[in-house]
Amino acid sequence: MDLLKRLSEVAGVPGREERVREIIETELEGVVDELSTDSMGNLHAVKRAGDGAPRAMVAAHMDEIGFYVKFVDDKGFLRLQQVGGFDPRNLFARQVIVHGSLSGEELLGVLNPGGKPIHISTPEERSKVPLLADFYVDLGLEPDEVKAKVRIGDMVTLRQEFLDLGKVVTGKALDDRTGCWIAIQTLKRLKDPAFEVHAVFTTQEEVGLRGALTSAYRVEPDIGIALDTTLAVDTPDIKDHQRVTKLGGGVGIKVMDSSAISTRWLLDEFLELAEKRGIDHQLEVLPLGGTDAGAIQRSRLGVPSITLSTPSRYVHTVTEMISKSDLEAAVALLTAYLQEGTARLES
Ligand SMILES: [Zn+2]
Repeated sequence: MDLLKRLSEVAGVPGREERVREIIETELEGVVDELSTDSMGNLHAVKRAGDGAPRAMVAAHMDEIGFYVKFVDDKGFLRLQQVGGFDPRNLFARQVIVHGSLSGEELLGVLNPGGKPIHISTPEERSKVPLLADFYVDLGLEPDEVKAKVRIGDMVTLRQEFLDLGKVVTGKALDDRTGCWIAIQTLKRLKDPAFEVHAVFTTQEEVGLRGALTSAYRVEPDIGIALDTTLAVDTPDIKDHQRVTKLGGGVGIKVMDSSAISTRWLLDEFLELAEKRGIDHQLEVLPLGGTDAGAIQRSRLGVPSITLSTPSRYVHTVTEMISKSDLEAAVALLTAYLQEGTARLES
């Protein structure tokens, strides 16, 4: 879990994934046959197979939702532009890190919406949910000092310690650093795969699957497999039929979300293999949300694609929660599939 802790705590918003990439690169040194970074910042890791083996692209995104500094006001407060889908209700009273490019320092600060505290606000003021645009960062520094250290375009990330609670882990950016972790563990386990495996650690997924799209053109895969988190809303005050997946219920085999409908023969093969190997799994239909599979599937003339999901409670908050047994199930199923191959692409 030490690797997942480092991946969770490191900062990397869309377009600024370099620190995440560094950790993964170090981890894959000597594990894969080729390692390279493209102009979009995607990290490509290739594990070769025998001549004529079909090519599988496995994609996991490195970026996390976060912010860029949009404006520094005369009092030294920072206004932010979000990159990725935040719910403002989850952003009150957070600790943040401002990655100051002028001084090269990591500046600690707090995030709050403008307005009055409870003691002096009216009931009407208290009932309003602020917009993302109402939030600002307070670094506790003099305006001159802020302007000497921070400029427009600097990355801002939420600060959260990763916790191992025994059966589950919780922290920030588990969407999709768990996908990165699953891809790394799979590459370490794979021996003589039936596919030439192109594991791509993608950029800018949270702003529209951008890195995966260009990577799919580079790799020209025969099949695409995205690794991402999905909703596990098996929590209080939610009806059973709305939960999407269950934490600890096994790896999610995605039927559809709003970016892609999984290619049916791939879904059937994964399902059959999970049953044959006794790997815990659950079918998943997600009404809204997407993964890199949506980009891979629509590249070139179309690529058969699917997503393997890790159930996560509290998605897109800094308290995302993942079950260790679901992680293990995902690695087991992906490894088995890449090892065994598919009858479909032979001949
Ligand atoms: Zn994601």
